[in-house]
Amino acid sequence: MEDYGSSDEDIYSSDQESYDGLENEEADSQWGSSTGNSCKVITRESLLVAQREDLRRVMDLLSLREHHARTLLIHYRWDVERLFAILVEKGKTCLFAEAGVTILEEVDVDSSVSSSTMMCGICMEEVAGSEVTKMDCGHCFCNDCWTEHFIVKIKEGQSKRIRCMAHKCFAICDEAVIRKLVSKRHPDLAEKFDRFLLESYIEDNKMVKWCPSIPHCGNAIRVETDEFCEVECSCGLQFCFSCLSEAHSPCSCWMWELWIKKCRDESETVNWITVHTKPCPKCHKPVEKNGGCNLVSCICGQAFCWLCGGATGRDHTWSSIAGHSCGRYKEDQEKKSERAKRDLYRYMHYHNRYKAHTDSFTQESRLRETIKEKVAILESRDSRLRDFSWVTNGLYRLFRSRRALSFSYPFAFYMFGDDLFKDEMTNEEKEIKQHLFEDQQQQLEANVEKLSKVFEDPFDGFEETEIMDMRMQVLNLSVVTDTLCKKMYECIETDLLGALQFSSHNIAPYQSKGIERATELNGGRNTKANNNITCQKSHDQTNGCTL
Ligand SMILES: [Zn+2]
Ligand SMILES: [Zn+2]
Ligand SMILES: [Zn+2]
Ligand SMILES: [Zn+2]
Ligand SMILES: [Zn+2]
Ligand SMILES: [Zn+2]
Ligand SMILES: [Zn+2]
Repeated sequence: MEDYGSSDEDIYSSDQESYDGLENEEADSQWGSSTGNSCKVITRESLLVAQREDLRRVMDLLSLREHHARTLLIHYRWDVERLFAILVEKGKTCLFAEAGVTILEEVDVDSSVSSSTMMCGICMEEVAGSEVTKMDCGHCFCNDCWTEHFIVKIKEGQSKRIRCMAHKCFAICDEAVIRKLVSKRHPDLAEKFDRFLLESYIEDNKMVKWCPSIPHCGNAIRVETDEFCEVECSCGLQFCFSCLSEAHSPCSCWMWELWIKKCRDESETVNWITVHTKPCPKCHKPVEKNGGCNLVSCICGQAFCWLCGGATGRDHTWSSIAGHSCGRYKEDQEKKSERAKRDLYRYMHYHNRYKAHTDSFTQESRLRETIKEKVAILESRDSRLRDFSWVTNGLYRLFRSRRALSFSYPFAFYMFGDDLFKDEMTNEEKEIKQHLFEDQQQQLEANVEKLSKVFEDPFDGFEETEIMDMRMQVLNLSVVTDTLCKKMYECIETDLLGALQFSSHNIAPYQSKGIERATELNGGRNTKANNNITCQKSHDQTNGCTL
């Protein structure tokens, strides 16, 4: 055992955390503390809390009442940082005016008018002072007219931004007034109004999205800094936050969408048929060419020329058909079918590899149980070897690298194909870049296969020394594949996608630890803006952090 020298300690550690590591990566100390986006799960219950956090920040900074803060935030799509930036850049007046927020100089806390009676400008009736309402913009109408206006707007689905009734007034009405007036006549509509306001936090917010699970888990996910990321909801679904389909990095969302469509379409098969068959000019059935002769005949009895598809007689030699000449057409036709064939083979090349890796991924996922059993056998042995966390960690490394590898094929298909970036690179540039990329991809592939192979061994029957050998192999290959994945992502981000001039493609960054699991939202958040201010999760459960 001397060979393993200094690492003796951790090999023989009796630390038993490894097992849970299979289901719960956070337990794996080797991954260190989580960095990056810190995604949050917003449940129906915590939606209010989440919204409050942002409202509070704006209310406190600008000394605003809640409904004004909400109007601002809805207008600026819940982007607090942008709202603050506009405040600094253009000033308060402009910030408010753009969003339709009006704040009277003389704050009239009680919005109802106290004078005895007044005439409503809408229905032209004389109404008692207690029956009219004055909005923040100063416009005053009778409660009946306001209520009617609000009900119409809510029914039209405009709850989030109901404007004042006065001609050319763009002020947004106070939600408290709306709620009060509407609930008197239409309580269920008032509830709907509240739900719309609440859900605006998700629907109008670039950084918050509903989890795409079916059936829907009821959760939304909030990301902190980067919308190009992959995340796991508390319901277990992993997805690309940006396009809401399955996690697909290092493929960009656009490439992924195209790829899915391409795989789904039968256009490729249709292409295959057009390459290998031609419709009979009489009955239109596809006819396959048989042998080298360019005169083909359909089962209906019609003879035709394979090169141009035209109906002909049956008299022919090897090089010509009696009474038929189509040489001019020949070359072009052949080129076209050659190109279709080449495109098809190219697609098949990438698709086969993509498919092979996805299949391996599925198979390896099934390995999980077998490996668990093998580890259990090892653990039950009376051996000095106690800690087998390297097995589960290695297996996770295999899963992650395999995923990255399989999605790197559709990426390469589009990156180096003619569909997307024809004008971005010369053929020479493309060739150089493709070589560079394929070198990395192949290295990764080779090491992923090696790692996969190690786990196929019947290691539950191994001697201690063999186990030690296997452990070293797994550890080494894990480091190598992790590094290679990281390098491949870097190459894609900087040398390939980053070098594009006319198009912009983003990919979720490489996560060595795997897809980030969103955590339940419970109070305080860490944003760039208040990172420096002490922010303890414990002290501030409902209000979140303030500036
Ligand atoms: Zn009226
Ligand atoms: Zn008004
Ligand atoms: Zn979910
Ligand atoms: Zn995506
Ligand atoms: Zn026919
Ligand atoms: Zn013939
Ligand atoms: Zn012909």
